[in-house]
Amino acid sequence: DPSETLASRRDRAFHLHPSSNLAALRTEGPLVIVRGDGVHVIDEAGNRYLEGMAGLWCAGLGFSERRLAEAAYRQMLELPFYHAFSNKVAAVSAELAERIVGVAPAGLSRVFFANSGSEANDSAVKLAWYLSNAVGRPEKKKIISRRRAYHGVTVASGSLTGLPFAHGDWDLPAPRFLHTETPHHWRYAKPGESEEAYAERLAAELERLILAEGPDTVAAFFAEPVMGAGGVIVPPATYFERVQRVLTKYEVLMVADEVICGFGRTGQMFGSQTFGIRPDVLTCAKMMTSGYVPMSAMLVGDGIYRTLEQQSEKLGVFGHGFTYSGHPVAAAVGLETLRIYEERDLLAHVRRVAPVLQEGLRALADHPLVGEARGIGLIGAWELAKDRDRRESFDPKAGVGAQVVKNAQKRGAIVRVLPGDIIAFSPPLIIEAHELRELLARAEAALDETWEWVRANGLV
Ligand code: PLP
Repeated sequence: DPSETLASRRDRAFHLHPSSNLAALRTEGPLVIVRGDGVHVIDEAGNRYLEGMAGLWCAGLGFSERRLAEAAYRQMLELPFYHAFSNKVAAVSAELAERIVGVAPAGLSRVFFANSGSEANDSAVKLAWYLSNAVGRPEKKKIISRRRAYHGVTVASGSLTGLPFAHGDWDLPAPRFLHTETPHHWRYAKPGESEEAYAERLAAELERLILAEGPDTVAAFFAEPVMGAGGVIVPPATYFERVQRVLTKYEVLMVADEVICGFGRTGQMFGSQTFGIRPDVLTCAKMMTSGYVPMSAMLVGDGIYRTLEQQSEKLGVFGHGFTYSGHPVAAAVGLETLRIYEERDLLAHVRRVAPVLQEGLRALADHPLVGEARGIGLIGAWELAKDRDRRESFDPKAGVGAQVVKNAQKRGAIVRVLPGDIIAFSPPLIIEAHELRELLARAEAALDETWEWVRANGLV
């Protein structure tokens, strides 16, 4: 194709894309983005797209926040790298740790830094194992997460993930990783079952699994407050309260994966606050730096920290950490991100505009392609269905969700399709009401066009 750009040719020739359909890329080529502007990104040809996913749920402050660029630049001139091994630390990393503890859910008082969500979750798995050994219960090592969870793709975090693409040919999950039910009321509740009754059934199922495995063998339970990449699944009322009762009973650590929910997505600083979760361990990443530089964290409370301190006294070291743990440039960007949150009262903004997204999504709940419209705060989805009443999905091979994404892209809107033909929305938190309306209008037009295509192709 003579019209193909240099960047596209390079990409197709040399780049191995993460998490992509490589065969489709070979024929269709990439969408090459060159610039950001507020909640928009701009491609090589100058087309503007409303970024309805904040990239990968992360660019909370949009794509052109100069203060973050300047904070990184200043830090690069001042101290571009330092580490936090043994007795060293960059001043800015310590300041960010204090700031994060200041906004964290009650009881979390120490911050361990890493670079990605996967690494933070990996660290939390290792921590659970380490603690079991430290307290003389070496058999207590199994980890439970949920089917459809997304916790990353490293060996441990990919094992936590409950989606087939992360397992199958990758020889995961590794031993000691177990999965329990997905808390999706619309899809899995019995006819007439209330959210509370369904939540109770899920908690009972979790308890059954713990008892079947033996409570003395189960160390931790991992959960996203709202499941993200598994389909934007908002837990049924009272779910976490009931689940936590079971975890407490069997001394199983509650690990909240706030990689998506953390830093305002649900309208509070953390999803744990929105859903009344009292995590023993919390992981976060993405919006912590608005995605501008990689950084993640694992938070723990005083009790766990004391155990780690005692062990390191015994062993001479706390043997876990990364070269870039608390990287000063990332820390400077993280600090500036949190300052902007506070100065602009971004959480109040999210709560103000969230109804535009949520009502807009639900306004199309009876669209012939939509099975369920759902979400909370500035995260939401349409789950497409062939037959809403029977909750019947389309044949995955038909690519109905991918068609919606393509039709939206044509109209200057970026949304994402998740496994199961679920169309996800997770825009930058700075998005204004009129921009949300525009995003929804373009997505609706994409749905309509896809509906025509579905009918023309005899898919219903
Ligand atoms: N946990 C959740 C909830 C996520 O959504 C993601 C990524 O999307 C991860 C963990 C993994 O993060 P990363 O891709 O930075 O390793």
